[in-house]
Amino acid sequence: MSSLKVNKKENKLESSNQIDIIDECKGAATIGISGHIRPDGDCVGAVLALYQYLQKALPESKVEVLLEQPSSIFSCIKGFDRIQTQYETEQNYDVFFSLDCDKTRLGDAEHLFDRAGKRIHIDHHISNQGCGDLNYVVPTASSTSELIYDLIPEAYLDQEIAKALYIGIIHDTGVFQYTNTAPKTLLIASKLITYGFDYAKIIQETFYEKTYVQNQILGRTLLESMLLMNGQCIVSVLDKKTMDFYGVTSKDLDGIVNQLLNTKGAEVAIFLYEMSNMAYKISMRSKQRVNVAKVAAMFGGGGHIKAAGCTMNGTFHDVINNLSARIEVQLLENKQEA
Ligand code: 5GP
Ligand code: MN
Repeated sequence: MSSLKVNKKENKLESSNQIDIIDECKGAATIGISGHIRPDGDCVGAVLALYQYLQKALPESKVEVLLEQPSSIFSCIKGFDRIQTQYETEQNYDVFFSLDCDKTRLGDAEHLFDRAGKRIHIDHHISNQGCGDLNYVVPTASSTSELIYDLIPEAYLDQEIAKALYIGIIHDTGVFQYTNTAPKTLLIASKLITYGFDYAKIIQETFYEKTYVQNQILGRTLLESMLLMNGQCIVSVLDKKTMDFYGVTSKDLDGIVNQLLNTKGAEVAIFLYEMSNMAYKISMRSKQRVNVAKVAAMFGGGGHIKAAGCTMNGTFHDVINNLSARIEVQLLENKQEA
């Protein structure tokens, strides 16, 4: 798989298939690993797989994971209980990894990244500009977990690492449904399941299963959804008052936007929830004709062609008007074939 390895310290652009993580971490007394705010399955899987690998391969180094608290569904991954959610941001790590995002989405850990001796990005987001000392960014990869798999020598793989990577891959591919699922993704998955973890249980319990209240909020969001542009765009919003009434947080809202997109005739789904007064987190999904990463980027966000997000300020109507205008342009440009 082709990728670009950018070595900023030596100011070199090199074409490379891979980086050697152990080489990059040689001699490091302290190594930090982080990923994006509101960590999803790929982020948690990739971070904890890398954590397990570094602990095994570099027992002399102190390896730490610094991440916003992930959903408890991921507590089945080894190392979950070692995640530090509160930490001192004035520390200087010898090496710091930003996984599944560029440094701007690390939250508080961005300070740690900036202060580190060597800063490494490993990501599959096309929007990652690669401002670390080393940037391994492969937009064609299904997930960051797939990239981490490539970087771990087979001798170090074990059941727990395989499970972490498998969880990452199923979450970013929608259990191998989305078009980011490549033949290579399935080959990797087939190797991972040879390690003997209960993959059916993992898919059910981390991907499909919802709590009662999560299903209630999903139902309510579907019920209150609206169709725009002759049904080509479906939108739903959840305000803070409703979230508080049901006692749900952002972690309870995964999967809602995908369910909206399952509506026949909808090309794009937009799901917004209110983070604070007049501030919304936006998730967008697309079937074919709209590049939602392009739309999200116009409002300071990013993501992938068919799955992207951003945060926006204003009233719900402002936000929807701004987004739908951009979506409509693309729908008109890429008219449905007769
Ligand atoms: P989700 O809608 O599931 O939160 O995110 C979909 C995709 O868009 C993910 O790859 C996620 O990392 C990316 N994404 C979501 N929100 C943002 C954002 O605010 N900024 C950027 N750069 N990417 C985002
Ligand atoms: Mn990802």
